[in-house]
Amino acid sequence: MITGDAAYIKRINRSLIIKEIINSGMISRAELAKAVDLTRATISVQVADLMEENLLIETHLEHNAVGRKPIMLSLQAEAGYAIGIDVDRYHITFLVTDLLGKNLTTDVVPIQTTQYAHILSILINQLKQYEQRFNDSYYGIVGVVIAIHGLVSNNERIVYIPHLDWHHVALKDDIAAHINVPVYIENNANLTALAERVYTHHNTDNLLSMTFYSGIGLGLILNGKFYKGHDGYAGETGHMIIMPDGLPCKCGNKGCWEKYASDTTILEQIAHIKQLPSVNTEQIGQWLAEGDSEVLHIVDRFFYYVSIGLNNIINIYNPDVVVIDSGILHLFPDASTRITSQLHSKISHYRELSISKLGKKSCVLGASALAIQYFLDLQDINLPIQGE
Ligand SMILES: [Zn+2]
Repeated sequence: MITGDAAYIKRINRSLIIKEIINSGMISRAELAKAVDLTRATISVQVADLMEENLLIETHLEHNAVGRKPIMLSLQAEAGYAIGIDVDRYHITFLVTDLLGKNLTTDVVPIQTTQYAHILSILINQLKQYEQRFNDSYYGIVGVVIAIHGLVSNNERIVYIPHLDWHHVALKDDIAAHINVPVYIENNANLTALAERVYTHHNTDNLLSMTFYSGIGLGLILNGKFYKGHDGYAGETGHMIIMPDGLPCKCGNKGCWEKYASDTTILEQIAHIKQLPSVNTEQIGQWLAEGDSEVLHIVDRFFYYVSIGLNNIINIYNPDVVVIDSGILHLFPDASTRITSQLHSKISHYRELSISKLGKKSCVLGASALAIQYFLDLQDINLPIQGE
């Protein structure tokens, strides 16, 4: 009989073993035992269980030296498939990966409506197609994580999505009623932070990721876990007031950070001075290359305001890694230096500040990675960045 403690230890050991096999790509039982500091007997039993579950495969290596051919273990990446979904403003992105995060298909479906029933049917139809298309594996689709650009409560109910004007909808239940796969709902900024942790910054348990596109999104991983706040609404730093009596914001306050430090705000300001209906990031890059002093001034102020908010947030959380992302930041190869040179405080502490290498696809990558984590029952996972 397995007691509660024994079952718990078995589960912990199982996750150690799976993580080490994923990190190594391929590893022998002997090397595995050494790497995770468990006995050969424990490794034997656990590996046998995982083979039984079709999660591991053995490869018999050829080698020329005299002696036994080593038998290597690796994760059976095609035992099942994970789906990440990003429900954005004008389109929904679907990413299907294998259990090692390898991109099998990315589909982008435009949405011309904000109507809940319509978007729900797009999601269900697409998921049903994937269920059929990926049913040749042992587990089929192992889980679906949906990124929501809005407030998600701790019990995975959508409280509010500003760009769709959805209030209190049970998307998880409505989808789960139609497909036979576990469905999870998570805030997009949290998933962006997770992707940075899973795909890029493997050696940290304290990571903040911030995006400065249409608004400001803050995803927090503290001590290896999402920090969501009491109700699930933590991280709304775009509405931190950095300018008393400043520009009015749709939230009802004045002087919110995102009115000063988001791509959208900068694009609007530059369109205004250029007397154009709208401008895009590429045009800004062109004006900067031409040395346009007005554009340069506005962009300098953007860096200044980004730094002010970051200073405040770093002081609150003392993160290890800070990852930031926006279209304008990507125009500057020295963007991280420009920011760090404006973080003067002797008090604020962080180890590394960098610009995201994943960019806008980080959200959907984080979503599929979380589906893999849930399926494999892992607290965290390191996956290699996939080539385009
Ligand atoms: Zn606001």
